[in-house]
Amino acid sequence: MNVDWKRGVSDGAHSTRRKSRQLVDARDLPLIGNSTMTEPHFSSSDEPTATCYADFDEKECLKLEEKRFMSPDPAPTLEDENDPTLPSMPEDDPNGNVNQEMGCPVARWGPQHAGAKKLASMYSREKRVQEIVSVIAAVILFIAVLLNLIRNWNSSIWGSVLFYAVLGITTADFASGVVHWGADTFGSVDTWFGRSFIRPFREHHVDPTAIIRHDFIEVNGDNFMLCVIPLASIFYQQMTYTWEQLHDWASFHWYILLLGIYVALTNQIHKWSHTYFGLSGWVVFLQKAHIILPRHHHKIHHISPHACYYCITTGWLNWPLEVIGFWRKAEWVVTKVTGMKPREDDLKWATKLS
Ligand SMILES: [Zn+2]
Ligand SMILES: [Zn+2]
Repeated sequence: MNVDWKRGVSDGAHSTRRKSRQLVDARDLPLIGNSTMTEPHFSSSDEPTATCYADFDEKECLKLEEKRFMSPDPAPTLEDENDPTLPSMPEDDPNGNVNQEMGCPVARWGPQHAGAKKLASMYSREKRVQEIVSVIAAVILFIAVLLNLIRNWNSSIWGSVLFYAVLGITTADFASGVVHWGADTFGSVDTWFGRSFIRPFREHHVDPTAIIRHDFIEVNGDNFMLCVIPLASIFYQQMTYTWEQLHDWASFHWYILLLGIYVALTNQIHKWSHTYFGLSGWVVFLQKAHIILPRHHHKIHHISPHACYYCITTGWLNWPLEVIGFWRKAEWVVTKVTGMKPREDDLKWATKLS
């Protein structure tokens, strides 16, 4: 495997494919889907630096992309790129997304992608307000519920709280997968709901590192919002139940609180999995120990057509769910019931060239 940190990783398969095509100077080719010319991304010791493919054919490439989106199995693997010591997803990422087919000669995905630009411009003031309100409401409820639980603490529930801590993080991982899969696979940004809640998922596929340029509110607002109703209902119970009733419900309340904390942290963990400079040592430790989503693990999801490894809290459930074909089966059910085709809208944004 040849590694060029600035330009990405090339393996044997890439090299063979590259050699089978005629190499030409990038300046001779039309610029597709990008507004600025940057230097070409792939290089290896046996090729000139400024190169691209002579047989680049936009229509053919669009057809190939459609085929990938409609028949996403088997899930891609990183194979010999699956090296945890590699920096994960730099702007010209080494996970196969930087290729010649959809944006030759510059990186295929990134802030220069036409779809990414359009999607980023759709982040509205109303959305921002919703995210700020969600974070404030959830933080107040987290603190109130936690203080009430500590006030009514009974040491006899230690064991069950520890059990629920593990169950909670596993539940959060599964929930992150289901929400992520649902938003990636169905719906469109043409509706109010889509503009508000599906748009970030579309943007993330065509510009994966946009997330590291987003602030805490934009990254975490929607996840905090999901915690508000469950926490509010627990808080209501804490305010109205007798001491005996609260004692009976204590383990469940701890479970929901811990699940809520993991859900609230999920997109921050996801952001860290895209961050390859300046991460705290303890975050890197948690990633390497696979207690939270590791960087190299999440790279697999970002190989087009983004149809596997949806779980983004810990990633523990990705492999078992892939083995049983969970996501394709779920898509079959949804299509049978609603008639919606998987990844139709995502394909539209992925292939938006102007
Ligand atoms: Zn995705
Ligand atoms: Zn991601």
